[in-house]
Amino acid sequence: MLEKIIEFIAPDECIICQKEGACMCNECAIAVLKYKKPACLFCNELNLDGRVCKRCRAKNHIYKSTIAYRYGGASKELINLMKYQGRRSVARYLAKGLPQADLDDKTMITFVPSDGATRRKRGFDQAELIAKHYAKTQQIKCANLLARSSHERQVGKSRKSRIENVKGNFVALKTITGKRIILIDDVVTTGATVSECASVLKSAGAKRIEVLAVAKK
Ligand SMILES: [Zn+2]
Ligand SMILES: [Zn+2]
Repeated sequence: MLEKIIEFIAPDECIICQKEGACMCNECAIAVLKYKKPACLFCNELNLDGRVCKRCRAKNHIYKSTIAYRYGGASKELINLMKYQGRRSVARYLAKGLPQADLDDKTMITFVPSDGATRRKRGFDQAELIAKHYAKTQQIKCANLLARSSHERQVGKSRKSRIENVKGNFVALKTITGKRIILIDDVVTTGATVSECASVLKSAGAKRIEVLAVAKK
């Protein structure tokens, strides 16, 4: 609601040509946004459907990835506008640019949660916001499946459990036996974070994990 009021007072304008309406107009989007070709998320070997190649599959639990844009230039500007200037409406725009997922009743949409400090500073979690907008367009609910594991609550634990805890940055919030998970993030860099999330989701019972992200470096 508040977001709507703010947008009414200060409508979005295209970051390239300043036309009022959205944070990027269709003409500029076609001209400046660079689409990412399907490839293995980890070794970048091009393929037809974004599947993780056999070699990389041996090392992690992600089945495939779909990345909308190449990170840099205009896509980077949009992401920065959302992240560092708090423009939530950009999340909706970026979610609209994500490709349709073929959904069935075993599919769940979730996101890579930001850490608490970043979230507090920003006032929102950008990946969650994108995932929520995206889920809405796909007419399903976005599920809260992951949380950052707290490294502060270490005091008083045995050394062994402390080490186990530090090993992972994420914990699963529910069991998801047999589910196909679409894991959403804004920017993927090396794939280490989504890979870590995927291991946690796998241990929570997920059958297949697919990454859907706005951009990749
Ligand atoms: Zn424009
Ligand atoms: Zn690979």
